[in-house]
Amino acid sequence: MLGLMQSQPLLISSLLEFAERHHSDGEIVSRRVEGDIHRYTYRQLASRSRQVARAIEALGLQFSDRVATLAWNGYRHLELYFGVSGSGRVLHTVNPRLHPDQIAWIMNHAEDQVLCFDTTFLPLVQAVHARCPTVKRWIALCDADKLPADTGIPGLISYEAWIAEQSSDYAWPEFDENSASSMCYTSGTTGNPKAALYSHRSSVLHAYAAALPDVMNLSARDAVLPVVPMFHVNAWGLPYSAPLTGCKLVFPGPALDGKSVYELIEAEGVTFAAGVPTVWQMLLGHMKPGGLKFTHLNRTVIGGSACPPAMITAFQDDYGVEVLHAWGMTEMSPLGTLCTLKNKHLGLSKDEQMKIRMKQGRAIYGVDMKIIDGDGEELPWDGKTYGDLLVKGPWIVANYYKGEGSPLVADKQGRGWFPTGDVATIDADGFMQITDRSKDVIKSGGEWISSIDIENIAMGHPAIAMAACIGMRHPKWDERPVIAVVKKPGAEVSREELLTFYEGKTAKWQIPDDVIFVESIPLGATGKMLKTRLREQLTGYQLPGI
Ligand code: AMP
Repeated sequence: MLGLMQSQPLLISSLLEFAERHHSDGEIVSRRVEGDIHRYTYRQLASRSRQVARAIEALGLQFSDRVATLAWNGYRHLELYFGVSGSGRVLHTVNPRLHPDQIAWIMNHAEDQVLCFDTTFLPLVQAVHARCPTVKRWIALCDADKLPADTGIPGLISYEAWIAEQSSDYAWPEFDENSASSMCYTSGTTGNPKAALYSHRSSVLHAYAAALPDVMNLSARDAVLPVVPMFHVNAWGLPYSAPLTGCKLVFPGPALDGKSVYELIEAEGVTFAAGVPTVWQMLLGHMKPGGLKFTHLNRTVIGGSACPPAMITAFQDDYGVEVLHAWGMTEMSPLGTLCTLKNKHLGLSKDEQMKIRMKQGRAIYGVDMKIIDGDGEELPWDGKTYGDLLVKGPWIVANYYKGEGSPLVADKQGRGWFPTGDVATIDADGFMQITDRSKDVIKSGGEWISSIDIENIAMGHPAIAMAACIGMRHPKWDERPVIAVVKKPGAEVSREELLTFYEGKTAKWQIPDDVIFVESIPLGATGKMLKTRLREQLTGYQLPGI
């Protein structure tokens, strides 16, 4: 017997319709590429998104055709999120930090028909447009009078001129909730990038889950700043969770330096911000010297890379901001786990709570996870045993776009699990902790050393701005850890001082064999450390005493 409830597809357009009806005067504030601040409401967002949908219809695009963006976080990008997906086309957010060859490759692979770009990225578009034959319309995200001249890009039009021709009289179509809504390519640090193709259903379910109290706890009383880019995994779903809750949205545009982010947080009364550790490092670096404080910010979600414990402590003790450590992947829309304490942890000492907060957290309803050994056997949840982390759930990929074969691993019941490529422990309370990417684990004398643990200790030293631990070949131990560090401007620390700093903080055999001082650590397109590139830079390096 079937239930007798209304059947309504979970569509992205419904999020916007909800916000327009119930939070019509909710504010959306954006710092524009031009540097000024733009403000409007969910009502105007909804109206202009319908104009976008009509403009796309007018281009003759078919259902599921791809519309690409190369854009910062801002209101026009948000209108494309809804106008493109809501009208049944697929929004392809391209990461502008990728190499132009990779951008041309993914745009061809996605067969993008339209590209909308912020004028910051004009040189990039000029470099790739001739190599993107599927694109039939190039649109600059600017006012008509700001359209760059003599660009060499055929038929380039301004976004404002493009949508101005359209009325906002448009009814969002209803279709299968499993239809594709947006796509995002993985960073592609090994081989060509692969695309996660999200659906309306997966995006709406993810948006619901992200807003839950033990996840981001979003509400109509919040002012939310997604520093995490809309060009990578849909800014962790915040553009969808925001209209669902009616919170105020604040977009930083291209100004991601500590000063600009701080000023925006203060000026707009931001209560909740989301970003990767490198961005927060810049923010704290700006605040510390002047003794600046936050007026309204009370929590921040940090993920994408391991959040150093020193950062969690600084936010909490110095600024009264709760850090929510989160873990996820492009393939997971991206949220998998988030670290919030349980009731029984509230009475623990600060140090004991800190041990939990350092972990990547508990699975969100909708995500199931397990760790397995090399034979595929599930490992115990004891907080010590580590294994390959596998996940499954309705917002986790089943296949890659145009992929050859499923990436999933079947369990004994034939259910498919996605192998994350991360190595982790899970404790009895279900808190997961990433020890490494499987390819970054250091194997020394048959034992594993977590490069993240070794990096976190270095990051706790007041003179260190960034640290990357890698394994170096060793004739006896197979591999030994070395730590490459960037010093904070004006700070001093010697090799010996840093190695002494490790004593008592980790087992003796896990202390790095050497410290390498570097000017910078190479970062990939999503702000993660590129250890492969670091290794290349250290070609010819010899461990001491060999
Ligand atoms: P991406 O798909 O580019 O977002 O990268 C996903 C990968 O980033 C994960 O598989 C992890 O290796 C890493 N990652 C994401 N969040 C965290 C975190 N909180 N701690 C450690 N690693 C993380």
